[in-house]
Amino acid sequence: MVARHDQTTDPRLQEQLLQARRGTAFFARKLNELTDAELDDDSLLPGWTRRHVVAHVGYNARAIARLIEWAATGVETPMYPSVEVRNHEIGFGATLSPIALRNLFDHSAVHLNVEWRDLAADSWHHKVKTVQGRTVPAEETVWMRTREVWVHAVDLNNGATFKDIPAPVLERLLTDITSAWHARGTDKGLVVEITGGTSPLTFGDSAGMSPTVVSGSLPAIAQWATGRGTDGTTARHDGGPATPTPPAPAWI
Ligand code: ZN
Repeated sequence: MVARHDQTTDPRLQEQLLQARRGTAFFARKLNELTDAELDDDSLLPGWTRRHVVAHVGYNARAIARLIEWAATGVETPMYPSVEVRNHEIGFGATLSPIALRNLFDHSAVHLNVEWRDLAADSWHHKVKTVQGRTVPAEETVWMRTREVWVHAVDLNNGATFKDIPAPVLERLLTDITSAWHARGTDKGLVVEITGGTSPLTFGDSAGMSPTVVSGSLPAIAQWATGRGTDGTTARHDGGPATPTPPAPAWI
């Protein structure tokens, strides 16, 4: 039976699905603004053209759809057989004709959306494994996809900025990134402050002595934390004068 509505009735998950769908629509809009010839130009990601970004986002939807099939059937189907296969697939996808590349994005997004829509309410709790080897409930895939479509829309390098990304997405992204830093111990002596919000947000090593404090608006800090430049951020060491913002620790 084909459902016309999401099977989940969890309002929190429904809200997250909406955020992923909005992000997908946003990516689609930025992609549609590009001519076929412009797909050959550089993205914001080193070594990747826009073609690589589109191929990656398309194959990412397929990979996440495999996790939903896993959650639905209990038959283990990994996102990718290996990291090498994933990277090779992106390289291959980048050579597709513009129409094939656009179809890859469109069809994979529709397919993933159908998988999500038809996943039974109970199955959202079933455990699946990410490409990094983390075991997560199927509902985590919604966030995994949300992050990809919003951030890579900026990477298309045709006008989208972190200011276009909804604040709840940026906040969760920063929580992810700063947790990864913390787990690796790369945030020692680094405090990140979000200015201009209704309530100030602080991430990082706030218990550390004489920290370097990097501050800026939520979009500016998210851009910096994902390794996409220091625009709109300021840094101070140990309460001293402003210094150039250091590069953010590696995230992925
Ligand atoms: Zn990605």
